Amino acid sequence: MAGRAPGLSPDSRCAAFQTGLPPDDRFRKGSPTRGRQAAEVFPDDPLSAEQSMPSQAPALPKVIPFITPRRGEAMDPAIRIRAVPCRHPMPKLGYTLEEPEDRDPEGVLWARTLENPVVNGEREGAPRWSDVHPLRQRRTMMLLRCQVGDCPATRPDGSRLFLFAESTGMPDGEPMLTAKPPVCERHALVAARLCPMLGPDPYAVVVKRARLFGVSGVRYEYTLRGPRVVEESHDDPVPYGTFPHQNWILATQMWRQLHDYRTCRLSDLGLAS
Ligand SMILES: [Zn+2]
Repeated sequence: MAGRAPGLSPDSRCAAFQTGLPPDDRFRKGSPTRGRQAAEVFPDDPLSAEQSMPSQAPALPKVIPFITPRRGEAMDPAIRIRAVPCRHPMPKLGYTLEEPEDRDPEGVLWARTLENPVVNGEREGAPRWSDVHPLRQRRTMMLLRCQVGDCPATRPDGSRLFLFAESTGMPDGEPMLTAKPPVCERHALVAARLCPMLGPDPYAVVVKRARLFGVSGVRYEYTLRGPRVVEESHDDPVPYGTFPHQNWILATQMWRQLHDYRTCRLSDLGLAS
């Protein structure tokens, strides 16, 4: 199995960019709400389920990325983590009052994180640039949507564009792992400009196949007194299907493995700024 690209940041943190989010009625109501990544909105095969990008998208006045958390979007303080029975001999990590959207389609428990309302197309709260919102990262990675604007990221030929820092070195064609969701062509230059870790002219990896790989997050272990944290930030992804490991991680990042891609510099794509 191939590892991540050399020097690749272990998570998707590079949130130093902003977007004026397109209005999204799902996040308009009330004070901070729970994430809305209901399982039914996820198609089995996101690569084939999306439409191509619209050719004409409205200009955005300012940019705060969709995956950037805002002040107040913390872990839901009401949750209580506990061990719950499962079909394996050992219990698994769970919540006292668990809801279907607390787990991804592979059954992994996710950090239940509040979401601020969106008012007049703008999500409330100051951005926390160095962090990533777990559930919005999951949504964009699961559906392969743009990390900046939550827009469709499918190119006309069905491929997706992922950006990699110059410091990672030129991807060599081998499968590689990433927790950074794709970008649409409209937001690629914005993402590069506002993420200092990418460098002035990052690698543009145009991907035909990006399979779901696994998750990273907070690793727990089972004890007779209840779940206990053993590693606050487990940066190496736990592959889906790896038991009991995937049952004892509180996921904050979803990873994909990129196959069948070509690489160039972002400037070579000739995108309009
Ligand atoms: Zn976009």
